[in-house]
Amino acid sequence: MTTSVPAVRDRPFTSLRTFPVAGGAKRCAPTGPTKKARLGVRAGAVDHKLVRMSEQEATPHIVAVIGGATAGAEVAGRLAADGVRVVVFEMNKRPFGKIEDGLPRWHTGLRNKEYETISAKLAKPGVEFVPDTKVGRDIGFAELAREWGFSSVVLANGAWRDRPLPIEGAEQYIGRGLIYQNPFIIWFNHADEESYQGERFEALDDALVIGGGLASIDVAKVLMLLTTSAALRERGIEVDLVELEVRGLPKTLAQHGLEFDDLGLRGCTLFYRRRAEDMPLAEIPEGADEKRREKVMTARKRLLQKAMDKYRFRFEALSAPDALLTSDGRVVGVRMRRTRIEAGRVKLGDETYERRGSCVISSIGSIPDAIPGIEMKGELFAFTDWECGRIEAYPNLFSVGNVVTGKGNIVASRKHATQVFDDAIKSFLGLQQDAHAGEAALDGNGGAAAETAARVHEHLARAPRPAPETVAEIIKRVRARQQQVGYEGELGAWLERVRPKEKPPV
Ligand SMILES: Cc1cc2nc3c(=O)[nH]c(=O)nc-3n(C[C@H](O)[C@H](O)[C@H](O)COP(=O)(O)OP(=O)(O)OC[C@H]3O[C@@H](n4cnc5c(N)ncnc54)[C@H](O)[C@@H]3O)c2cc1C
Repeated sequence: MTTSVPAVRDRPFTSLRTFPVAGGAKRCAPTGPTKKARLGVRAGAVDHKLVRMSEQEATPHIVAVIGGATAGAEVAGRLAADGVRVVVFEMNKRPFGKIEDGLPRWHTGLRNKEYETISAKLAKPGVEFVPDTKVGRDIGFAELAREWGFSSVVLANGAWRDRPLPIEGAEQYIGRGLIYQNPFIIWFNHADEESYQGERFEALDDALVIGGGLASIDVAKVLMLLTTSAALRERGIEVDLVELEVRGLPKTLAQHGLEFDDLGLRGCTLFYRRRAEDMPLAEIPEGADEKRREKVMTARKRLLQKAMDKYRFRFEALSAPDALLTSDGRVVGVRMRRTRIEAGRVKLGDETYERRGSCVISSIGSIPDAIPGIEMKGELFAFTDWECGRIEAYPNLFSVGNVVTGKGNIVASRKHATQVFDDAIKSFLGLQQDAHAGEAALDGNGGAAAETAARVHEHLARAPRPAPETVAEIIKRVRARQQQVGYEGELGAWLERVRPKEKPPV
């Protein structure tokens, strides 16, 4: 038996406010009148109409997750464990996101562990995987969120666009000496694969890297590892890239009776608008006193120096990009402006200096790719609630992971997904343990029963269960898309089929 329920979009938007919890994190909670006042529940009274509703609307919720990597798989797995059906739309053939395309390929152990974790979560019963499907291109976002009939939509699409270099006209030099971090690392990770069809780059000596975050150190390392192994190859010495990363340049070269200076390489330079001690190589704990802060800052300087010694790249602090130097339509260097740090903020100074180099690689952060139908505010989605990534125009939307945190960190993405799931999505869908306890309300057990009924009602009111025919229609559409992209419904078999194959040696 089905109950006709209005579409989610017809429900008034219950805005979420945030409140601090132990540990400083903020949690989301519904705002508005108290539950009892809102529902008109008398203490001790059992509203049997509500109980009947909960019995009738037994169709499990069905949720769309956009992006199937660290954060998306985390949410999908947790929803499935709570009996919710989940449809994960993933733009790539493989659901590993930045683990595969961001994390440099020398992190073999971490990558494999993350591949396993993500695959296990997506393989859970109740999770439908729809690969090779970009929301916003293959399926309209507004249509998916408002018309398909999903109880909720979760954005877990990460940050796939490079933040543009803040130099006017810079974009015209992309491919002519200006390179962005994301395609560069994707190339580095996939260049040896037979099926790789993306952009191709050359790792040039004496490159100028603009950045300061962890990813920019990876860019500098990639350049140093590739230029060093190429220089060794010219001498007839083959080195394994992963081993070179583990041992570092000086030790590897010493094995062959060489020093870095013997290679005739200048090495790349990393420019940062702050100081070495400001680099996010170690985190300052919240509420740390001055002594603790100093300790972390010293550790940061030491870590950077260690990386520079091991991979032989150079570092220029307190420098912000001011202009590209060009010749014959190509980038040949940068003009940098000296900065100073005042009360933790970067201030531009009057002094500038120029550096020539083989190319400029911009690694100043990643931002979400716009999805038509979702309002942007500057570089980011126009979230009205930043804790849970909510947008007023889509009352059934939540966001998890990098798309909200902006932190390039696996643990941060997974933690955020878990927190949003626990704090907001579960409540929105009425998945708290006691929310399942509709039957308890029947025992006429005074206040507790009334309270349970009130909670059940609250959740039902906020996220109506889908009608079975709505779910059947969604699954029909999902099957059609899976068929279109050649996915036969078994994740393991699919991952085996689309596993990248190495190019045969020439
Ligand atoms: C160079 C580099 C080095 C890093 N090193 C480390 C490290 O050492 N340690 C660490 O912890 N972290 C590191 N990170 C960061 C870490 O990889 C990410 O923070 C984390 O993997 C993000 O997970 P996520 O699920 O939030 O986002 P992503 O991994 O970005 O997942 C988003 C998913 O959504 C999909 N998607 C995007 N748009 C759409 C759409 N419109 N429709 C359908 N699907 C879509 C993508 O294909 C992707 O699978 C590094 C990142 C980079 C770039």
